[in-house]
Amino acid sequence: MARANAAYYATRDPFADFITAPEIAQAFGELLGAWAAVTWQAMGAPDPVLLVEAGPGRGTLMADALRLINRVAPAFGAALRLHLVETSPRLRAVQAEALAGRLATPITWHDRTQDLPDGPLILLANEFLDALPIRQLVHGPGAGGWMERHVRDGGFVLHPGLPPPPPLDRRDVALGDVLELCEPALAIVALLARRVAQTPGAVLLLDYGPDQPGSGETLQALLGGQPADPLLRPGEADLTAHVDFPALADVALEQGAAVHGPEGQGAFLSRLGLFARTERLARGRPPAEARALLDAAHRLAAPERMGRLFKAMALCHPSIGVPPGFAVPDDGPATERTA
Ligand code: SAH
Repeated sequence: MARANAAYYATRDPFADFITAPEIAQAFGELLGAWAAVTWQAMGAPDPVLLVEAGPGRGTLMADALRLINRVAPAFGAALRLHLVETSPRLRAVQAEALAGRLATPITWHDRTQDLPDGPLILLANEFLDALPIRQLVHGPGAGGWMERHVRDGGFVLHPGLPPPPPLDRRDVALGDVLELCEPALAIVALLARRVAQTPGAVLLLDYGPDQPGSGETLQALLGGQPADPLLRPGEADLTAHVDFPALADVALEQGAAVHGPEGQGAFLSRLGLFARTERLARGRPPAEARALLDAAHRLAAPERMGRLFKAMALCHPSIGVPPGFAVPDDGPATERTA
């Protein structure tokens, strides 16, 4: 999966196969820019501060975020140093072009989150974790009770495997259940959570993940924009798996970070002002354009569209409090969790 996706992102325009939230509505990147500016204030306005995006795609989210930051939070705009985590040379060039002229200091690219320099940090990632490679463990009869799915000669085969490591070992599984383990996502979240627990910082992860993950396979391929067999043409299809937010939350709590969410994307964006911002953008536009803007906002927020399956989760230094977009404990069910 890792090699197939590396080849895919290095050679193809992923946006021919799927569309992401920042490509649907400019308000998405703007609201995340506002989120970062408010969070920066709550961190005590450190200067300089690293603003990081992991997996920036075409650079659209960050271009929209920076346009808003430069307009409404110029002090944050001046303090931030932009770092992008991106492996694809092709997409790095697209990002450089999208962001040209929006920053006073140069952009730094990294292959891995581990390579980011030290210091206060705000990191945003939309549909990044879902592209990272998973293992599939199948609970079966036999000595250890666990098999792992491997790929051989273009097909899946089962090999005796190791039992799932923490935190997946706490899951209730029945015979035949499949557990998906995304080691790179767990490692990245552990690293980022440790960082923000030590140095004031915040990480906002948006991705699609079910409410109750644990068993069931979610590996999927999109080839030419259509669902396909994941093994059919490796490197030509986009491979993703659902993000296991509860497992990532456990790992982050263990590292001492405060975890907010996971919260449905619809509730998160609505609290940030998605509809107010969209109405503001639509004002004075021709009716068809105004309707298209409202439709786009609805697509991001409506529960039957991207509003429920997509989730937002933040990992923060405990001093930051509840970041914008997340429910405060007395505003309905508490979503903040502490160790
Ligand atoms: N965030 C963007 C793009 C999502 S596509 C959006 O919302 O539109 C996934 C992005 O992650 C692409 O930029 C891809 O090149 C990058 N990516 C995928 N695997 C990666 C990895 N292992 N390391 C760094 N970047 C990766």
